[in-house]
Amino acid sequence: MIDSKNPNSPIGPGAAIGVLGSGQLGRMFAIAARRMGYRVHTFSPDYDTPTGQIADVEVVSPYDDLREVANFARQASVVTFEFENVPTATAEAAARYAPVRPKGSILHITQQRIREKAFLRRAGLPVTPYREVHSLSDLEQAVFELGCPAVLKTAAFGYDGKGQFRIESPDRMAEAWNAIGREEAVVEAFIDFEREISVVAARGQDGQFVHYGAIENQHSRHILDISIAPARVTSEVAAQAVEMTSCVLETLGVVGVLCVEFFVTRNGKLLINELAPRPHNSGHLTVDACVTSQFEQQLRAVCGLRLGSTEMHRPAAMANLLGDLWANGEPDWTAVSAFPDVKLHLYGKLEARPGRKMGHLTALNRDPEEAYRMVLNARRSLTR
Ligand code: AMP
Repeated sequence: MIDSKNPNSPIGPGAAIGVLGSGQLGRMFAIAARRMGYRVHTFSPDYDTPTGQIADVEVVSPYDDLREVANFARQASVVTFEFENVPTATAEAAARYAPVRPKGSILHITQQRIREKAFLRRAGLPVTPYREVHSLSDLEQAVFELGCPAVLKTAAFGYDGKGQFRIESPDRMAEAWNAIGREEAVVEAFIDFEREISVVAARGQDGQFVHYGAIENQHSRHILDISIAPARVTSEVAAQAVEMTSCVLETLGVVGVLCVEFFVTRNGKLLINELAPRPHNSGHLTVDACVTSQFEQQLRAVCGLRLGSTEMHRPAAMANLLGDLWANGEPDWTAVSAFPDVKLHLYGKLEARPGRKMGHLTALNRDPEEAYRMVLNARRSLTR
């Protein structure tokens, strides 16, 4: 039974869910939530957004307008976020009027690389060798210790390779330091990995844990390009990745979806690259491939419902559609309809810019290698 007076009681259809952020993750969350009869309110500084186009209510306001944040939270039964760089003060202001799930302290840890890596180390989890950097001399010392190549990353507000510089030789240190804006940073040893994988998982209010297994990821220009599920790794590696992911969700007390990104080294060891406390691009294939998508799972978790089955109907491969595909005009959407096992997702973004995530394709096949080939062919057909 749903008791709307009790904060721990499940939140049922008809209730309004507040989403901080308005991009494609919020859009796919809103589609899942509206299908199940929930109302969705979105909050961001932009209008006619990917989420706003689907939501019942689109609030357009800066994140630091805490009065607007309070009004927004008052109207929601629960508030979640689709954009992890929501300021801590915004999450705190919302939390005075509605439960915020996952809680703001998790955002605080994961939106800054130094805090995130310190958390992982304290939890006994393996991270890429790194050093904190607050000055050029810190950087010189760190690269001396870690060796070249190394990767310098701003501590805050980095995603899709933004705020990163690969240091190939020690004489490029000053250039790297200037390139990232002389901001607080971390420098990591460059890992000559065998492949990258991620585990998308969810934890319910009662501690229930579910996961989608290891998903393989290929990046291009630091941006996710292709995901394949299941990942082409041994069952031991996949099981270890799931075990570490479970430890992250449990230790942080996550209520919602969280993704852990890993490097698999050439000798089969796992290193955690980063955490995303929300549905993740590598989990988009769960929409078409699994009984319960990562977005429905997020909804179930933040509403205090039991989590759904993560069983896969068929293996899948996902290819991102970046704005670059629009370089010579609108892609040929009819071409993709010639692929009966490929699903098209477009995010409703009004302007295609290079590197901007505009949509994705998911191919389904009993053989993941075939799904991979199919999704690449389908994407090529768009601009032939
Ligand atoms: P990040 O923004 O940290 O997730 O980095 C984006 C992508 O850049 C990763 O998924 C990797 O493909 C690559 N990358 C980042 N850090 C490293 C590293 N230390 N060694 C090798 N590749 C890296």
